[in-house]
Amino acid sequence: MNNFSSKIDMHMHSIASDGLSDAKTIVKKAKKLGISIAITDHNAISQSLAASKNKMGVTVIPGIEVTCKEGPHILFYFYSFRDLTNFFEKHIKPNYNKAFTSNLNIGMSDLMQASNKLNGLTIAAHPFSPGLCGSYISFSKNDEFIKNVIAIEGINSSMTDYANEKAILWAKKIKKPLTAGSDAHHTRYIGLAYTTVDPNRNADNILDSIKKGNCTIGGRIMRLHEKLWDSKNIIKTWASSPTYFLSKGIKDIIKSRKLRKLNKC
Ligand SMILES: [Zn+2]
Ligand SMILES: [Zn+2]
Repeated sequence: MNNFSSKIDMHMHSIASDGLSDAKTIVKKAKKLGISIAITDHNAISQSLAASKNKMGVTVIPGIEVTCKEGPHILFYFYSFRDLTNFFEKHIKPNYNKAFTSNLNIGMSDLMQASNKLNGLTIAAHPFSPGLCGSYISFSKNDEFIKNVIAIEGINSSMTDYANEKAILWAKKIKKPLTAGSDAHHTRYIGLAYTTVDPNRNADNILDSIKKGNCTIGGRIMRLHEKLWDSKNIIKTWASSPTYFLSKGIKDIIKSRKLRKLNKC
C-alpha cells in the first residue's frame, strides 16, 4: 500500500492538456507537500497514467476532466487505472474534437452512464464558472444529473470566492458532498485547495469516503498574479488559434446566456 495522506488535491492539469508540468514533476511536488493527487487533464489521460507508473509512494487517483457535448466540465474518478483507460478509449478518444479544450461529441448523460458502469464517480467541476464550462446552468434542471452526480466541487482555486460560495450553497441544497482541488496548471499551485478524508486509507477508500460524504474541504483561491502565472499555457493555447477560440468563446457566451434565461439563474 502507498503512503497515504488525508489531503488530496483532486483537480490539476499537466502537459497532456493545458498544464505546464509533466507527471514526474507533479508527483515530486505532491511528495514534498505530503498530499495525494488526481491528475485530471482535459479529455486526456497520458500523464495520469505516467504518474501511476512512477508514484514515488504518492497516492494517485485515476481521473479526468471531460468537456461534454453540452459544454460543462465534469470530473470523473475511477477505482483503477484500467477503468480510467477503458473509459477514455471507449468514450473519450472516439469523440475527441479539434483540440483538448473542445467539446467532445458525447453528451453528459452518455458519459455519466458510461462512468456508472465502471463504478466511477461523477463530480461537477467549478459549477459556477462563467460561460458554458460551469455545469450548474446545464444541470440544475436535469434530474438525471442531480441523481447521478456524486459530489460538487466546492473550492476550485482558479475560481472566485463568489463562484465557490455559490457552488457550496448549491451542494447543500441538493444534499451532495463537496470536493476541492487547485485546478493548478503549474506545480507551484498544487495543493492550494484540497479534499480531506480519514487518514490511513488507500486510494479506493478515498473514493468510498467521498461517495459516503465522509470528507471535508479546505484551501484558498489563487490571487490575481498567481492566476496569471498559472494560466501561462492556457493563454499560449488561445494565442495559437485565436479565431477558433474567439468564435468558440462568443458562441459559449450566447448559449450560456440563453440557458441562464431558460433556467432563471
Ligand atoms: Zn474546468
Ligand atoms: Zn481543470
